[in-house]
Formats: sequence, structure tokens, C-alpha cells
Amino acid sequence: MSSTVTLPTTGGPALPQRRHLVTSLPGPRSQEIIDRKAAAVAAGVGHSVPIAAVAAGGGVVVDVDGNSLIDLGSGIAVTTVGNAHPGVVAAVQEQAARFTHTCFMISPYEQYVAVAEALNRLTPGGHAKKSALFNSGAEAVENAVKIARKATGRQAVVAFDHAYHGRTNLTMALTAKSMPYKSGFGPFASEVYRAPMSYPFRDGLSGADAAAKALSLIEKQIGAENLAAVIIEPIQGEGGFIVPADGFLPALADWCRENGVVFIADEVQTGFARTGAMFASELFGIVPDLITTAKGIAGGMPLAAVTGRAEIMDAAHTGGLGGTYGGNPLACAAALAAIDAFENDDLPARARAIGDVLLERLGALQAADPRIGDVRGRGAMVAAEFVDPATGAPDAALTAAVAKGCIAEGVIVLTCGTYGNVIRFLPPLSIGDDLLSEGLDVLAGVLARA
Ligand SMILES: *Cc1c(COP(=O)(O)O)cnc(C)c1O
Repeated sequence: MSSTVTLPTTGGPALPQRRHLVTSLPGPRSQEIIDRKAAAVAAGVGHSVPIAAVAAGGGVVVDVDGNSLIDLGSGIAVTTVGNAHPGVVAAVQEQAARFTHTCFMISPYEQYVAVAEALNRLTPGGHAKKSALFNSGAEAVENAVKIARKATGRQAVVAFDHAYHGRTNLTMALTAKSMPYKSGFGPFASEVYRAPMSYPFRDGLSGADAAAKALSLIEKQIGAENLAAVIIEPIQGEGGFIVPADGFLPALADWCRENGVVFIADEVQTGFARTGAMFASELFGIVPDLITTAKGIAGGMPLAAVTGRAEIMDAAHTGGLGGTYGGNPLACAAALAAIDAFENDDLPARARAIGDVLLERLGALQAADPRIGDVRGRGAMVAAEFVDPATGAPDAALTAAVAKGCIAEGVIVLTCGTYGNVIRFLPPLSIGDDLLSEGLDVLAGVLARA
């Protein structure tokens, strides 16, 4: 059976765009690799889809048994331009044949500079900007906080309920959820404070009221004069795709400006066309002082950035920022190709079209099924929150069962949320309408039987 399956040797959009299961999941070859994983890889590194991938592209992921699954997760909002995007593949191949590394802090190269120029041009605001490149979202967040502290001469940082900013020590402190991100890994970095987030489905507050509540806590418990930065995801990712009420983010940004506090938008998950705008800050009419980016920036290559006001970015002394691999030439070449696609293929428009389909289909499901308490999101970043219809309490068990059921039928979906009761949809923008629709049909069927 599976020994006769011919596996694709390359991925990208030319892969057959279909959901097609030839084994139950995991198939025998995937199971072998998963067993080797259990023996060789640290237990702390988990996985949620029981397959071993061999190729991906368009809207599918193919495994070693020849199963083809619909991808509604993009490897957590990373392959936004599409997996093995042809432009990204060509750029990486060409760059790899020229040079793979010099260390930008030893011998600079143009590709890094060009990515910085693109970020300075594309991020919100017409002010003078500068950028610095890193390897991961967490590293970008760490550096944004370093820069804000140096620029202000202050130490305190405010993050929000349900926030996710990474798994390094400082970013664990900024992240809200204990299990699995923080539990047992302390002590955490000091001078990190938490403020209430606007969460319209659960707090019922207007944006202005939610902001007043957060700012009062900040003023009373920290004091603006001690505060270096406020960091917030314009739409929260891991915390549950929480979209703040209108007016919340502008009120925070205005207060920061009036008080000399650096306003950092963590757009690691929302950035690069994902929400239907190049950056989610645009949707809320805010111009952050600093923006952190990663995930969607380079079509799957590891790259991250901090971009912001030139005078803040230049506050750090020479040699204070950097890292061996930061702005690696392969990752920069990939980013330039991905950015070309974001701009020239009008991918924000594609994200909005996908968002229309997601909101309409999930909205219809919600109207017929009180276990879906809320459907929310922007563009190709949409989620459904599952609740006990009688009490409104989060229903993590149902959520896990629905996600598991979708995966078993060949549709990759991801969960999230402080209470583990949210299924999030982050399809690659290269997915076809038929495949997206089929994925949602599968979800509807699984939910009806759950
Ligand atoms: C994923 C994520 C991070 C961390 O990025 P890594 O590349 O995993 O370190 C930080 N902030 C947000 C909003 C994220 O979604």
C-alpha cells in the first residue's frame, strides 16, 4: 500500500491541490518518524498534527505516506505567501550559491540593507525609520524592549492579559499564560507588569472604557515616569485572536505619546498582509513607535525585525544590537522575494477575500450552533471561540475534539486561547477557494457530530 506511493520531490503551488488520505493518520511511515522523534527529541518540543511532512505548497501539506492535507494553519502564520513559493525558492537557491553567511556585523551585504529599507517604507507612519534584523519573533521582542529602555532611560514594561510574546526569559515574562509557556521555567525577568486587555466578547467594555481601566492601573501601580514601553499585539495571536474594541489601541497609543512611553506593536503574527492590511496597526489607525515582525516576513525562512522611529532605534550604542545570524543572507533574500509578492500580487486583498469567506461560513455555523460563542478576526486571521451554551464558560474539551476531528479528516487547524477554547484559521494566501471551502465543510461536519 503506502510503499507504492510516489511522493513529490518538490513542493510549491504545482502540488496537486486536493485533500486526499491514503491512510489513517498517522500513516505507518509517519508513525516511524514520530517514534524516532519520541526517542531522539526532547519531550518539551510537542507537535499537534501527527504526520511527517515531505512537501507543501498552495493550500496543502503532503506527508511521507502520501496523504495530502488542507493547510489552514500556515505553520502558525508563517507561509503566508505560500509554502515553497517559487519566488522565495529561486531567491534562496541563488543566494545559497553565492554566499550563505558573513555575519552582518563583520562584513555587511546589500540584502540586509534592502530588507531594512523595505520595512521602513512599508510599516505605518511617514516619519524617519530604521530597522534591525534578528532570527525569531522572541528575539525581536527582546530587542525592542532593550531599545525602548535605552531610549527612555526607564525600566518598566507593560504587557497585557492573554499576551504572547515568546519563550525566552524576557518574553516568557511578557507572555501571560503559564501552562505550557512558563510553568516551572522561572524566575522571570523583572519590571514587567500586566494590564487588562480589551476583550469585547468577555468584558463587554467599549474601547474607551477598557483603555481607561488599563491606563488607570498603569498610572497607579507603575507610574508613567518609570515606564519604558507598552507592548501589545494589535490582534492577539496565541491568546485567542482577541480583537480589541474600537478606540482601545488609539487611546493607549495617545497616552504613550503624551507620557514619553515607547508604544511597541508586536506584529509578529498579524504582520505582512495576514489581516488584510500590510500591518494590523493600520486597521486600528495607530502608528506605533516600534513594530516587531517575524513569522510571515520571509516565506518560512527564519527572520525577524524591529522597525521604528529613527531616533529611538538609534538610541542603542554601536555593538549593543545584533547577533551572529541576525539578517542571514538566505533569510533576507527570501524576505525580499516574499515582500515582492505581498506588494505586487496584492496579497492584502487576497487576505480580505479569504476573511470574507471565513467570517461568512463561521458566522453561519455560529447562528445555528450556540456552542460557538464568538467568531472574530480580520482578513485571513479568524477564529471561533467555543463555549458551554448554558453558562458561556470556555469549552476546551469540545475545541480539542473538533480540532482533532478535522486533522483526522485531513484538515490542519490550530487551537489557541488562554482557556484553550479557540480554533484559529490562518490559511496560506495561496490557498484556492475550493480547498478553503472544503476545509470549512469538514469543520462543519466534525462539529455537527461532536
Ligand atoms: C509567535 C509569536 C512570537 C514569538 O515568535 P518566535 O519566532 O516563535 O520566537 C512573538 N509574538 C507574537 C505575537 C507571536 O505570535
